[in-house]
Amino acid sequence: MPVITDLTADFKPFWDKMHAVDPYLKPEEEAPEAEYIAPNEDMVHLVGVMNCIMCGACVSDCTVLEVKDNFLGPAALAKAYRFVADPRDDTETERLENLVEDGGIWDCTRCMQCVEVCPKDVDPMSRIMAMRANSLEKKMNKGYGPRHANAFTSLVKSSGILNETLLILKTKGFFNIIELIKLLPLAIAAQLAGKRPPFLSHSIKNKDKLKNIFKKLEKK
Ligand code: SF4
Ligand code: SF4
Repeated sequence: MPVITDLTADFKPFWDKMHAVDPYLKPEEEAPEAEYIAPNEDMVHLVGVMNCIMCGACVSDCTVLEVKDNFLGPAALAKAYRFVADPRDDTETERLENLVEDGGIWDCTRCMQCVEVCPKDVDPMSRIMAMRANSLEKKMNKGYGPRHANAFTSLVKSSGILNETLLILKTKGFFNIIELIKLLPLAIAAQLAGKRPPFLSHSIKNKDKLKNIFKKLEKK
């Protein structure tokens, strides 16, 4: 966050991003005569994220915000999760559709910095990952983030080995010439350093065991 003076930070970007995720319940049904009733276990689960005291420590230390101003950041995304996961809110899909856009949940690099510095154990990164899983379940597959996640899963599922060359090609798209050209300097540097991943990879021996693991996971 921008520093005003020693120990004083400008919180405007923090609040702007907090407002951007519509931090309030959006029920579509008619309001009940008394209070909204929600299952106890759902609310107990949400207490963890409601513990946020808006200190901004996670935002100050987020490694992505250092380089990408439009990233919503850990605090706002944790707040978004608080409503995505609230059974009284009826706009989960609409919220996720906004959150998968540029600057949203797929920009997190899972560096864990926000988890380490949070004084209230809000664990913003896990909330972001939960929304990613939720959006994939809803087949929100547009963009490099979901494509990377799906390619990663399908490569490991098919051979038990992560072929990093194919991972990049599947994520960027085999015919996405402009993006692939941008990667050339990296590929050349890796080649020169003897660190270019192989184009072809073998399969692991116990593929059946792996398939059973995937079957069990997919049933869940
Ligand atoms: S885990 Fe994601 S949100 Fe948290 S600090 Fe790292 S990049 Fe930012
Ligand atoms: S560090 Fe924790 S308590 Fe502070 S703003 Fe971030 S999530 Fe909230």
